[in-house]
Amino acid sequence: MKTYKIASIPGDGIGKEVIPECEKVLNALSKKHPEVAFQFEHFDWGGDYYRKYGIMMPDDGLEPLRSKDAILFGSAGDPKIPDHITLWGLRLKICQGFDQYANVRPTRILPGIETPLRNCKPGQLDWVIVRENSEGEYSGVGGRAHQGHPIEVASDMSIMTRVGVERVQRFAFKLAQSRPRKHLTVITKSNAQRHGMVMWDEIANIVAKDFPDVTWDKELVDAATARMVNRPESLDTIVATNLHADVLSDLAAALAGSLGIAPTANLDPERRYPSMFEPIHGSAFDIMGKGLANPIGTFWSAVMMLDFLGEKALGAKLMAAIEKVTANPKLHTRDLGGTAMMSDVTNAVIEEISK
Ligand code: NAD
Ligand code: MN
Repeated sequence: MKTYKIASIPGDGIGKEVIPECEKVLNALSKKHPEVAFQFEHFDWGGDYYRKYGIMMPDDGLEPLRSKDAILFGSAGDPKIPDHITLWGLRLKICQGFDQYANVRPTRILPGIETPLRNCKPGQLDWVIVRENSEGEYSGVGGRAHQGHPIEVASDMSIMTRVGVERVQRFAFKLAQSRPRKHLTVITKSNAQRHGMVMWDEIANIVAKDFPDVTWDKELVDAATARMVNRPESLDTIVATNLHADVLSDLAAALAGSLGIAPTANLDPERRYPSMFEPIHGSAFDIMGKGLANPIGTFWSAVMMLDFLGEKALGAKLMAAIEKVTANPKLHTRDLGGTAMMSDVTNAVIEEISK
């Protein structure tokens, strides 16, 4: 029997609701397939922890995570704490501490889900966005001076390193190569950002030479938003900087029906450290504590976790269960226009798995 050690960090808001549901689903999977087990260790980090101790997670909090096979994360964000504190104090501390430089976000219109795109047929929207997750616009470099005075200044510096750009682009080309279409779109903004993004383009040209069987094109980030809406079938694998991909992937999630469905993986492709899996949505203050959250984004993130752990058959089984459930409109939560509760969705997925 193989036992996977999973760090479970629900965080804040609906993160505290969807992560326990995901554990139930994984345990059900293990019950049906006893050759695999999951051993969860829980970490109560986030807004409540901050209120008690003045920090989102302990300074040496990465240590107990280091020996885990994977991290399951809910969301960070509390109505009473500034967002830059919750984000940098928890999620980014883990992403950066474990050099999870490739953020992978698949987008597909699942069975039974309606897209706001009028002319998009099933199968025409099947993307994976690869987001640079360790530097760029979110490097954290910058500062403020003369605070509160009329001459106040503030800066956020975008840092692009050759190593950082090359490794994420190489990862994206490899991912594109593994998908049937073998096509990569490199998102850029080298017309306006004339240093870092120009280097980004140059490196894409070099890395592409190692992948002769992958076709690729380049698109400016603003034009890319229109292309996602008007010609979704022209895109497949996409690579973009930290900020650009952050924005594009929320658009992608909305086009696929709801933010509540979209999953993501923060990967250390070299497996020096544990990777982290989470829904892309945040704490959803407007629905927290009501049992209305859509847990599908978290379940799909668990599929990505199983795949990354090498449990492809289990991942496929869970994905099939998810798609069976989304196909039934009676099991749609409110974000999808339905009336189902989170627990209805969980129970239905567990029922599918246990068949
Ligand atoms: P959000 O994702 O929390 O919510 C946006 C909208 O989508 C809300 O109307 C919400 O109800 C809905 N929604 C999101 N997930 C849903 C789900 N699973 N089921 C049903 N509806 C869902 O984004 P926001 O409002 O911009 O941010 C709220 C807080 O979350 C902020 O503090 C923000 O910083 C934080 N946040 C954290 C993460 C993260 O930890 N990865 C990501 C995004 C936002
Ligand atoms: Mn985002």
